[in-house]
Amino acid sequence: MVLDDLGSSLRGSLNKLQGKSRLSKEDVEEIVKEIQRSLLQADVEVALVMDLSKSIKKRALEEEPPGGTTARDHILKIVYEEMVELVGDSTEIPLEPQTIMLAGLQGSGKTTTAAKMAWWFSKKGLRPAVIQTDTFRPGAYDQAKQMCERAEVEFYGDPDEEDPVKIAREGMEATDDADVHIVDTAGRHALESDLIDEIEEIEEAVNPELNLLVLDAAIGQGAKKQAQEFDNSIGIGGVVITKLDGTAKGGGALTAVNETGSSISFLGTGETVQDIERFEPNGFISRLLGMGDLKQLSERVERAMAETQAEDEDWNPEDIMKGSFTLKDMKRQMDAMNKMGPLDQIMDMIPGLGGGLMDQLPDDAMDVTQNRMRSFEVIMDSMTESEMENPRSIGASQIRRISQGSGKDEETIRELLEQHKMMERTLKQFGSMGDGDMKRMMKKLEN
Ligand code: GDP
Repeated sequence: MVLDDLGSSLRGSLNKLQGKSRLSKEDVEEIVKEIQRSLLQADVEVALVMDLSKSIKKRALEEEPPGGTTARDHILKIVYEEMVELVGDSTEIPLEPQTIMLAGLQGSGKTTTAAKMAWWFSKKGLRPAVIQTDTFRPGAYDQAKQMCERAEVEFYGDPDEEDPVKIAREGMEATDDADVHIVDTAGRHALESDLIDEIEEIEEAVNPELNLLVLDAAIGQGAKKQAQEFDNSIGIGGVVITKLDGTAKGGGALTAVNETGSSISFLGTGETVQDIERFEPNGFISRLLGMGDLKQLSERVERAMAETQAEDEDWNPEDIMKGSFTLKDMKRQMDAMNKMGPLDQIMDMIPGLGGGLMDQLPDDAMDVTQNRMRSFEVIMDSMTESEMENPRSIGASQIRRISQGSGKDEETIRELLEQHKMMERTLKQFGSMGDGDMKRMMKKLEN
């Protein structure tokens, strides 16, 4: 995750403030130093880092902490607010018909992003089409076509045509029915004048409402020049940061945002079409600082729930809250979890689990959990309908039979039954929670 290091190093300094009610000058200096170190390491421009440090220092020493706040909460709030200010608002993307053109160097992730964005728009109920005009990179056509098939969105490209401007024009006509046109353009290894000429011509042909600059999160200060050149020629309205799953950097992208006076629009967090997130400054910084990102998490949960529900019309998640939680429900939960994406990413979003706990887990812990889920699924497939509905009826002889049927050992089956009981208990507690309890819990999570 971008600037990942910041969260963990800051937590260290913040923990030292435990029990203190006032910040000393030294405390503030130490925290600001940690922030500077992390940001510079993440390739954020020096001038930006200095501005941020100055504001944090000033506010931390001058502002009176509200009554009852600890020194730790006071500085955390200031750091949080200043960081949100630094990354800026999210690019406005109206959910209406429009044309968006993607620009960037080769390998930055444009083609992948085009398909991901199309998938994202389709989930919002719009009808997107991707137009592939990259005639420069061999394989761009096939890659885009395949990804669009996976995303189940319309695609236009012409592998036999060499003129990208012609493809763009014809693509707009051929996909006339679509609401949202996403136009992918060719990148080069470095900015060359013919790339700039070409993209200007494509822009004229498709007349986009928005141009997005796609940047690899690992890009350093090179982002600045790219951003300037693209901004001068076509005007950049927003930045997409890709490959956030694979790097601790991302500062270059912040520089680009600053340089173009634009904002971050989307984040790419993996190679599949679903690995896209709308940039949301508050959530992004909360996650960075290890405060979790409740909003993203609830969006993902909602989406996964809706998909699971669409497949199974009889299912009503509210029944679970009323106290009946069968193995069938557990299986649906696991399906929904699978749809939300890799477990470690989900864990990262849960306040209290993000950062702190994740840092302590061995690298393969998540993998084990995912393997275990897979075993559970195989086991459930070997159960009868009535066993799934009524897990308490499963005794030693059934366990033996299920073990033979699924090829999994009896121990794993017992673990599954144990896990089910535990989830059932937890849900019952949630179900009996009054409104007041819920509110208190949410408040605690927000702070
Ligand atoms: P383009 O040349 O700008 O069109 O770049 P591509 O879309 O072909 O992406 C280049 C490589 O980066 C491909 O191998 C993609 O699978 C990979 N890629 C793109 N976005 C992401 C991302 O968010 N995470 C990861 N891990 N890989 C990505």
